[in-house]
Amino acid sequence: MTKVHTETIEALIIRCIDYRFVTRSRKFKEDAGLTDKYDLLTFPGASKNIHLLFDAIAVSNRLHKPKKIIIMDHEDCGAFGDENSLEDHKNSLKKAEKLLHIVFPEIPVELYYIKFEEIIKI
Ligand SMILES: [Zn+2]
Repeated sequence: MTKVHTETIEALIIRCIDYRFVTRSRKFKEDAGLTDKYDLLTFPGASKNIHLLFDAIAVSNRLHKPKKIIIMDHEDCGAFGDENSLEDHKNSLKKAEKLLHIVFPEIPVELYYIKFEEIIKI
């Protein structure tokens, strides 16, 4: 039987699929010194349906033991429909953080909101 590769990485990053924010979020990760040190999950809405990602998060956690989970929502997110204000995203991100703390209590969570001009830490 082949042994599964395991190691410790800096972060698991969860962000929306939206192509408009790929370069911006990659730049953020490079600036944060995370290049090649993170697992990446992309899913429409990022924080919005975090419960659908628990199995995938568990795999990342089992294989790579990320030191933290970073959730990145973004402005003008189609997955959020009409409830798409900064306040809506803050609420969704905080709710996702609470759920993650229940299921993965050992992993700290950081929340971000990507705007077209800047990235805000929530
Ligand atoms: Zn989106």
